[in-house]
Amino acid sequence: MKYRSTRGSTLHALDEVLLRGIAADGGLYLPESLPSFSSADFSASDTILETARVVLTPFFAGSSLAGSLHEIIAETFHFPIPANKLDVDNDNAWMLELYHGPTAAFKDVGAGFLAACLSRLHSGATPLTILVATSGDTGGAVAAAFNERPNVRVVVLFPEGRVSERQQKQLTCWGDNVLSLAIQGSFDDCQAMVKEAFAESKLREQYRLSSANSINIGRLLPQSIYYAHSSLEHFRKTGKKPGFIIPVGNLGNSLACILARDMGLPIGEVILASNANRLIPDYLDGAEWLPRASIQTLASAMDVGNPSNMERLRHLHGDAPELVKMLSAVSVSDAEIERQMHDDMQAFGIATCPHTATATHVYRGLSSAQSKADWIIIATAHPAKFDSIVEPLIGQAVPVPAELAAILSRPNRFQLIAANLDALAKAMAEKFQVDEGASTGDK
Ligand SMILES: *Cc1c(COP(=O)(O)O)cnc(C)c1O
Repeated sequence: MKYRSTRGSTLHALDEVLLRGIAADGGLYLPESLPSFSSADFSASDTILETARVVLTPFFAGSSLAGSLHEIIAETFHFPIPANKLDVDNDNAWMLELYHGPTAAFKDVGAGFLAACLSRLHSGATPLTILVATSGDTGGAVAAAFNERPNVRVVVLFPEGRVSERQQKQLTCWGDNVLSLAIQGSFDDCQAMVKEAFAESKLREQYRLSSANSINIGRLLPQSIYYAHSSLEHFRKTGKKPGFIIPVGNLGNSLACILARDMGLPIGEVILASNANRLIPDYLDGAEWLPRASIQTLASAMDVGNPSNMERLRHLHGDAPELVKMLSAVSVSDAEIERQMHDDMQAFGIATCPHTATATHVYRGLSSAQSKADWIIIATAHPAKFDSIVEPLIGQAVPVPAELAAILSRPNRFQLIAANLDALAKAMAEKFQVDEGASTGDK
């Protein structure tokens, strides 16, 4: 299998695509073609591991990682991903809980898979350094996934005082090969510093800088697996193709669902639930695709003004007039999210995080025709991760899952630095004992 950029026609090998992340022409990588599956291909797939082997094997054909694929899959899907009935009295809705991984959000799947791939791909005297700017969930998942792996190190940049206490723990509890930096500035400053570091060729080469952000195809592919496996299980039991309702930010999780359906998996309607950052719903309604500044909402991991995976979706399926035939999108306000978190506890006895509540809100608003279908609602994060928002609304404490509790009991280890490249280079040189003069010398 080869891969090409959404903006070019040159074919690239998987190993190169995983290491590069974004294409040199600024585009996003996609496989040259998608394999096509029928249910017979999955007759032996009783576990998500087996489903993953069937789906992912063609994508790894010809890669140096092909022989390690089973190990990579086992290291990624090491936590349960259950589909639980939303409401015992209601016969047609399930919630797929993607939040049982190390940092209690679905990004653990993509980050775990990418870490398992990159630590095997890279060897040599200088480890690969993953540089990641984060406003919350991504940095924790990436640090957890790469922590204590050989041949890789991680530098996490987060804005001082602007992440929740529990998120900050997940960014700063690692030590070892992870350097956590609180930046005296905003998330935009953190992103700008990462961009500058990549633009500085000495720094880039000296540390072998690489990225693990959500556009890397190594994060997208494994996310298709839980859609494949949950839809197959549902179809086997009921003979019906479930629809999916998915909280959307950068469109990575939703695109993974659409890829699974494109490959022939038994998936019905797909509905995206956005927060007040409503570029995607507006675009499907006929507005132009014009990236906007993001708006802060309660579902902060979905505060994206320019969802980058739309470039992949349009490349695969065309523009809005085509896209509306295959998916829809609904915007959910903060007031609706708050009310929904309260109602989810009242109606279903479950605590939802603000992101997941966008999806339960969309489920509750389905038309009577739509509600005849079976639906799987995607729960993207554990509510205990957002305790300060969730608990006052539901009037009770949310029990903390064991893995999150373990993280919360560890000490914080981070440095506070100024929002500039020199401060970043200095902190990296100290932590990784690299001669700083060589990295930032003559610029
Ligand atoms: C990242 C994230 C999302 C948005 O997912 P995308 O793949 O960016 O669309 C939703 N919920 C949570 C909890 C997240 O961390």
